[in-house]
Amino acid sequence: MPNNKFAFFNGEIVPIAQAQVSVMTNALNYGTGCFEGIRGYWAPEEEQLLVFQLRAHMERLHGSCRILFMRLPYSVDELCDITVELLRREGFREDVYIRPLVYKSDPAIAVQLNGLNDAFTLFAVGFGQYIAGTAVRACVSSWRRIDDNIIPSRAKASGAYINSALSKTEALLNGYDEAIVLGGDGHVSEASAANLFIVRNGVLVTPPVTSDVLEGITRQVVARLAHDHLGLAVVERPIDRTELYVADEAFFCGTGAEIKPIIEIDRRPVGSGEVGPIAGQLVALYADAVRGRLPDYRQWCTPVYA
Ligand code: PMP
Repeated sequence: MPNNKFAFFNGEIVPIAQAQVSVMTNALNYGTGCFEGIRGYWAPEEEQLLVFQLRAHMERLHGSCRILFMRLPYSVDELCDITVELLRREGFREDVYIRPLVYKSDPAIAVQLNGLNDAFTLFAVGFGQYIAGTAVRACVSSWRRIDDNIIPSRAKASGAYINSALSKTEALLNGYDEAIVLGGDGHVSEASAANLFIVRNGVLVTPPVTSDVLEGITRQVVARLAHDHLGLAVVERPIDRTELYVADEAFFCGTGAEIKPIIEIDRRPVGSGEVGPIAGQLVALYADAVRGRLPDYRQWCTPVYA
């Protein structure tokens, strides 16, 4: 059960029980919303809650709103302030997941984005691992990733997550931990809610932003950590399904997933079938970065408590 007490709703922080919408809400009926998923990490050494990449997430939320004709009445700075204020009120001393959501709030039978009112809400809950385990087994989904010209992949649109839910459900029911989804053109796109990297001959490869992926923030963090600490460049290029089977290493990355090594794809071991050296090092670096233990990236972490 969620352990939060409050939500930011209709312009103020209210008890969570008061943050309710009508069954007629346009977004509930048609998925006309967009959102972010942000993590805050408890750093026990300094008794501090650190929100990771807060600004980048709020900037992406503004981008999603532009694509989807949604009016967000708060600037990026104001959204960051609202987040910090809510987290302070909650008084969390644990890892948290933060969910800002912009949605078409009118009780309107209207399948359109223009001419409707928008609302903004934000809540946060205590949160552990999104994908259990230190390494995962994945399958290539029989579902295809939504094309950018069908539902914009770079907008984190609520309705688009039906596609994610279908592929994830199929993977789970077939005994895998996660799905890898191909785009309409048959190339590898991403996971149900994470981006994907492979390692081939010491090179990190990930699909380009034109492969119907969400422009992931963790994906950028991985590129930076790999460059600065491992001396590795990232190549963005299309990836074939069968390249997954011959990759030396593979891993998912995302705010929820964090960095999650993949040890098996479609019942074929990835590389040695164990967590590879590059993925292993990135897992460790990421864990240090998010908890503020790498001074070079301290600006990625927004402290909540004074
Ligand atoms: N792709 C999809 C479809 C996602 O839902 C997510 C999670 N937000 C990602 C990729 C990873 O994005 P990020 O690293 O910004 O969390």
